[in-house]
Amino acid sequence: MLQELTFGRLENEFYDRKASDEDVVICVWKNRILLKREAEFQIAYPTVETVKKWADEKEWKAWREDAFQYVFRMQEVNYYLWMGDAKEPADDAYQYEEIRQFSQFETKDACFAACTATHLYTWYRNNRFCGCCQTPTIHDTKERMLRCPNCGNLIFPRISPAVIIGVTNGEKLLLSKYAGRAYTRYALIAGYTEIGETIEETVQREVMEEVGLHVKNIRYYKSQPWGRDGAVLMGFFCDLDGSDEIHLDENELALAEWHDRHALPAHDDGISLTREMIRMFEEGREPK
Ligand SMILES: [Zn+2]
Repeated sequence: MLQELTFGRLENEFYDRKASDEDVVICVWKNRILLKREAEFQIAYPTVETVKKWADEKEWKAWREDAFQYVFRMQEVNYYLWMGDAKEPADDAYQYEEIRQFSQFETKDACFAACTATHLYTWYRNNRFCGCCQTPTIHDTKERMLRCPNCGNLIFPRISPAVIIGVTNGEKLLLSKYAGRAYTRYALIAGYTEIGETIEETVQREVMEEVGLHVKNIRYYKSQPWGRDGAVLMGFFCDLDGSDEIHLDENELALAEWHDRHALPAHDDGISLTREMIRMFEEGREPK
């Protein structure tokens, strides 16, 4: 999975750290990331020094020290978010690319960094004002938190729990395809946890809503941070309980089918929890 392909731990402890010119900057614009393609399938992000130069030359919103927000450190590189208005870079070598396209790049540590930084960017951007009293929030200096100086409201990063579900029926696994989305490959049933619900209930509800099946013997497999959607994904396998007749929710899914363990039409891409779970079933290594 993506986060396992990095060659150093993501050091996500928060520090109130000023940016140095050689630090790396993630610029997010309309859910795309500013990057430079280097050797084939390799990518690089601009440094603080470069972004300062563009900010001056291209009239990006004049940068201040706090326009660079420290996010984390990985492989001895400090990552910052550009919190000013990101516009076209003053260097043709750089372009904004969709995170969705990142699986093609071999620089997996850089891809994971961008996904995770995007999660934080969305949180910082969406909480510039207090939701209680509308006062501009300020950044806490000791932990990753925003604070309202007027009413004392404390705002922490939001992580949404979601499940990925491998529904098994003996030697068969349920695969589906989403309806009306750009992603057209096979997937597993998935969904976000709702308020007041246990994770196990999310598994049962999502399977019932999307394909009309009862499940039992729910067992945990593994989790994956998925910053692009602000989520942490939790993978579960479970067994069909009762009828195997699928009643498709056509608003959510274009199809759902049972596939034999030895003839699965989807394979591990090394990136996603979904794909790893499909491989585990293919190899008979899913938790029993
Ligand atoms: Zn407030």
